[in-house]
Amino acid sequence: MPFEIDHVIPESLGGLTVRENLCLSCSSCNDRKNCRTAAIDPTTGQLTPLFHPRRQTWSQHFQWRDDGLRIEGLTPVGRATVLALQLNNTVLVTARRSWVRVGWHPPKEEQVRKKRPR
Ligand SMILES: [Zn+2]
Repeated sequence: MPFEIDHVIPESLGGLTVRENLCLSCSSCNDRKNCRTAAIDPTTGQLTPLFHPRRQTWSQHFQWRDDGLRIEGLTPVGRATVLALQLNNTVLVTARRSWVRVGWHPPKEEQVRKKRPR
């Protein structure tokens, strides 16, 4: 699946094309995020900011479930993001099942930290 460069804060909402506001996103997530910066947390029903990949740490808001097949939101931000971006849709879960089988997935926390630019 090709990656796209996403504006975390969309240009339509004043987001700038600067490193701090850009991230790689698969086209599926980028399409589902669209121009949103917030979504409903399914547990509280409250409008909640989406996960900010430049400012927040993945493991504080999400964890892998079912041996890496599904992502669970641990916080309002995590839950709203999983639902809004449909991070456990059938295509992704099927792909993860193949990646788990060959040992590519889930990523180890150390690998995630090393790849994150500072
Ligand atoms: Zn994605």
